[in-house]
Amino acid sequence: MELQKQVAVVTGASRGIGRAIALELGRGGATVLVNYLKNEAAAAAVVADINAAGGVGRAVQADVSTLDGVNRLVQAGEDAGGIEILVNNAGITRDGLLLRMTDEQWGDVIDTNLTATFRLCRAATEGMLRRRRGCIVNLTSISGIMGNAGQANYAAAKAGIIAMSRSLAKEVGRRSIRVNCVAPGFIDTDMTASLPTELIDGVKQMIPMRRLGRPDEIGPIVRFLAGPGASYITGQTFVVDGGLS
Ligand code: NAP
Repeated sequence: MELQKQVAVVTGASRGIGRAIALELGRGGATVLVNYLKNEAAAAAVVADINAAGGVGRAVQADVSTLDGVNRLVQAGEDAGGIEILVNNAGITRDGLLLRMTDEQWGDVIDTNLTATFRLCRAATEGMLRRRRGCIVNLTSISGIMGNAGQANYAAAKAGIIAMSRSLAKEVGRRSIRVNCVAPGFIDTDMTASLPTELIDGVKQMIPMRRLGRPDEIGPIVRFLAGPGASYITGQTFVVDGGLS
């Protein structure tokens, strides 16, 4: 229970990777604010699971692609005692070849994946700077490192998250605030479930471990980065991809 008495905000925690991270931080003893966009029942189930495991969870609806949503979520975290752990996990894809990509596809992905992460970091670090402690983990992707055909918008947003996190780590390190990224490969969630079976079969052949990852294989590294074992780690990106990259 190394995270006891710490308030954690996890965006997009109703499903997939965010859910696994919220459960893991709850197991670590943190009070977890489970953010979601639309899926109220799923978020309530995550809260129930955290509480059943002896933790404390609370669902907070907020659209992090809007400034109002970001402000309400951060306020909820401050009201709960002050955000010590921020996990920017909410993300979307709007795939398409660059030649045919619309401004809307580009803008939606940049707003939800990159601008939301920037705004949440900006709003949450205010309280962290005052308290001189805090930890941010931003979810990026191997697409942001390697690029991926059909994902120019997503790859640009995820690469931006890595560069922004490194810069922020340099700005706030002296106040004992750490900022790191986790870059998953292909993980079995609703996001990858929408991809064609032939594409997934081809991807599996390129992964040395020959399978997709599970969300519960991402939660533990986020819990580690949020905890005391990572007290001297900042500005880094940790790839979890079964060897793909
Ligand atoms: P997912 O299964 O599609 O779940 C997305 C989550 O984000 C849901 O909880 C959803 O809430 C929430 N969300 C979406 N838009 C939101 C918004 N505007 N405001 C608040 N919440 C919002 O996604 P995932 O596969 O778990 O991915 C999680 C993160 O890991 C993303 O940043 C993704 O880019 C990254 N990632 C995923 C993979 C992969 O293979 N799955 C690989 C690399 C990186 P609702 O349930 O309410 O809709």
